[in-house]
Amino acid sequence: MKLSDTIYDAIIIGTGIAGLNAAASFSRDKNVLLICKENSWDCNTFYAQGGVAVAVDDEDIPSHIHDTLEAGAGLCDEKAVEILCNDGRDAIDDFIKRGFLFDKDEEGNLLYTKEAAHSRNRILHAGGDATGRHMHHFLMQENPHKLLYNSTVTDLFIEDGYCHGVRVYHKDEFRNYYAKNIIIASGGVGSIYEYHTNARAISADMQGLCIEKGCDLRDMEMMQFHPTVFIHNRGARKQLLTEALRGEGAHIVDENGKRFLFEYDQRGELSPRSKVSRAIFDWKKKTGLEVYLNCSMFDEVFFRERFPTIYFNLRDMGFNLPNDEVPISPAFHYAMGGIETDLNGKVPGMHNLYAIGEVASTRVHGANRLASNSLLEGLVFSRRAVKDILQNDVDFQVKKFSNEEEILKKPIDSKLKNELRHLMWEAAGITREKKKLQEALEKIEKMLKKDIGKLLRLRLNTSRNIVKSAIYREEPLGAHYIITKR
Ligand SMILES: Cc1cc2nc3c(=O)[nH]c(=O)nc-3n(C[C@H](O)[C@H](O)[C@H](O)COP(=O)(O)OP(=O)(O)OC[C@H]3O[C@@H](n4cnc5c(N)ncnc54)[C@H](O)[C@@H]3O)c2cc1C
Repeated sequence: MKLSDTIYDAIIIGTGIAGLNAAASFSRDKNVLLICKENSWDCNTFYAQGGVAVAVDDEDIPSHIHDTLEAGAGLCDEKAVEILCNDGRDAIDDFIKRGFLFDKDEEGNLLYTKEAAHSRNRILHAGGDATGRHMHHFLMQENPHKLLYNSTVTDLFIEDGYCHGVRVYHKDEFRNYYAKNIIIASGGVGSIYEYHTNARAISADMQGLCIEKGCDLRDMEMMQFHPTVFIHNRGARKQLLTEALRGEGAHIVDENGKRFLFEYDQRGELSPRSKVSRAIFDWKKKTGLEVYLNCSMFDEVFFRERFPTIYFNLRDMGFNLPNDEVPISPAFHYAMGGIETDLNGKVPGMHNLYAIGEVASTRVHGANRLASNSLLEGLVFSRRAVKDILQNDVDFQVKKFSNEEEILKKPIDSKLKNELRHLMWEAAGITREKKKLQEALEKIEKMLKKDIGKLLRLRLNTSRNIVKSAIYREEPLGAHYIITKR
């Protein structure tokens, strides 16, 4: 029997932490199909460096909730945050019980580090600064279900509140796959920005598709920019320098050695990342000076062991860490907004469609994500979605759909894609102005009217949604920094 003749119990779109942990939550006897673009590791999970935030013990849960709500600047769903922080400990303990190894000290105690806006050390890490890679590798080894590589989902078969399946572009042909439940775990929107830290596969197409299918996106103006990114490497994905570096003592300085962050916030390097991003952006603009991350206070051997990914990646680019200062800039990093879901990841108005991980909006991050809460979100909400699926066992007749698809890419697309990336960076980036946003919206509308391929159209849909949401929210909030002219 061909894979495409089967009616699966679930199809999961995406093989990051959310998709893979959802797969792990289905028992072996369930018929589950995972789908990813090119390679399973080409996802943001693989590149996560700093770690996973989790309450250290029961007493720490209220404080983790408090820090998350503070960062979220009033836009969090408190219930979602309580779930994240309460269930988070259990999800991590389960992960450890399944055999995952977080970094420990010589006595065998888990090592917790600190990141900005956390009131205490509560970030677990693995392989030093290779947490995401280790978690991804572990989940891939654990995965008992079928996985379709090199496959881009190009359509969702939605009718009368049910999603019957997906159309996939695989090896130059379109194939349909059908299931009783569909879980979207396709990550954020990185590729629509000129400077970003995200994996290549992360291109906002599923969000754009959901808009066309009548599913709502929420809080799309809430885009997070990471302050410490080395943006001069080649390739669209820029090299992140984890927040844990600042958490453990690294300084941000200008070319005169001035720690200018204190002019913006008394917490200096430990102020929330949106503040640090804006301060760097503003300082560069105001003074014309280059800004650097200075790690020279670290012992060299310690640095290499604690931050091996950064040490070796930067060495390949000609830097001798921790001694050399690294020029940094903010870059797009994380989407707080996404496909609206309930607290089990279910899409409102749908009986069997779920969204989990970065692609979803449970409002757990509100207007700004607390550092390292997203890997935890992936673990916690994937389990809840699968539990909901298993408890509700939807009963409907899966229908077959045509496998005719529109042209995905047209010759004009790559030029427009680059224009869009620049436009989004300039208009819907770290600081925003209504006039620029309105001009960007007009340009996006014009691009949408051109003879373009479907994949670009889906990106444009998502971009339009971000820009419109940013125009709509006239006051600054959390990561959305709009300059108001009174
Ligand atoms: C450099 C970097 C460092 C980070 N560090 C941390 C950290 O230390 N701690 C933390 O908590 N968070 C961190 N984050 C954020 C965190 O890694 C992500 O939010 C999280 O991993 C997202 O997981 P996910 O499963 O939702 O999506 P991803 O891991 O991004 O996976 C998305 C998957 O969807 C697939 N996909 C997308 N579109 C389609 C399509 N149309 N058809 C088929 N498949 C599709 C992709 O192929 C991929 O498999 C970091 C992010 C980056 C980029």
